[in-house]
Amino acid sequence: MAKELSQIDANKIPVLVSGCLLGQNVRFDGGHKLDRFVSEGLSSAFEFIAVCPELAMGLGSPRAALRLVREGDRVKLTESKNTAADYTARAEETAARLLEKLPRVYGAILKKDSPSCGPFKVKVYSEGGMAERNGAGFFANALRAADPLLPVEDEGRLNDAGLREAFIERVYAYRRWVALVEEGLSVAKLMTFHRDHKFMIMSRPRSDYAKLGRIVAGLTKSNLAHQSQMYIAALMEVLARAPSRGARANMMYHLLGYLKQALGWEDKKALVDVVETYRTGALPFAVPMVLLADYFRRFPDPYVMQQYCLMRYPMALGMHTSNA
Ligand code: SF4
Repeated sequence: MAKELSQIDANKIPVLVSGCLLGQNVRFDGGHKLDRFVSEGLSSAFEFIAVCPELAMGLGSPRAALRLVREGDRVKLTESKNTAADYTARAEETAARLLEKLPRVYGAILKKDSPSCGPFKVKVYSEGGMAERNGAGFFANALRAADPLLPVEDEGRLNDAGLREAFIERVYAYRRWVALVEEGLSVAKLMTFHRDHKFMIMSRPRSDYAKLGRIVAGLTKSNLAHQSQMYIAALMEVLARAPSRGARANMMYHLLGYLKQALGWEDKKALVDVVETYRTGALPFAVPMVLLADYFRRFPDPYVMQQYCLMRYPMALGMHTSNA
């Protein structure tokens, strides 16, 4: 069924969030780390499933602060001021228990730097007390192991407009993928899925588009199970990269090609000027995209109308409105 340009997903998408980011008083100091963009901005599109792994360990709030400590080949979770107080086994058991009960989620926003939740560059201390930022929290690691495709970000990285938009696109794309798998995958359906994401993929480096294209070109009925896993893993990796202005401008010129017959010289020139102004950084992505979407509404092209790059996201997400 054809998608409308104004299509907005009717149902909110379940996304896992560290409870402290939603204002829950679950931190070691008894407080929270409310993040308004997460708790308010994203709530128009996402249904939050809050989790606090340390509270779930039965540690209470307030509690002793924890840290990751390297001991030989392993990393353990201990109290910051008493590394003999080792919570590693308890953290692993708790993570397994939480994940077993977790409903299906399509993304996770976790608290940065936390030895339990932090997904990237969490401090790992040596026994001597020196720290390197090369770890991930116990719960974040368990979540990734349970679902390696799940889009995961921390609230700090979501302050970057490019990474934020990439995360939101990825959550939506992952939900579409899960729905496709649940209804039953076929070679034709995977090819259609790839086709409908074509322009979104084109807003990333050209080599990414070529890589995904090669996977799809090699699809057969007999290798579908294997190739489809390769495809979605590669797509999630590609969409995790923030699009560049150059790649997006290039993608818009491809879209413009589908309006060649419909538009007169002046309209085309005006559109090109807006795309080029976007490329310089003086306009947000939304400006040329709204113009393009409007032209396609007046001069519909069946192929372009299927493209998810033209999908309208809920306004409160602020998609494509930043000049960053
Ligand atoms: S970072 Fe994670 S474990 Fe720490 S308080 Fe927040 S939700 Fe709980």
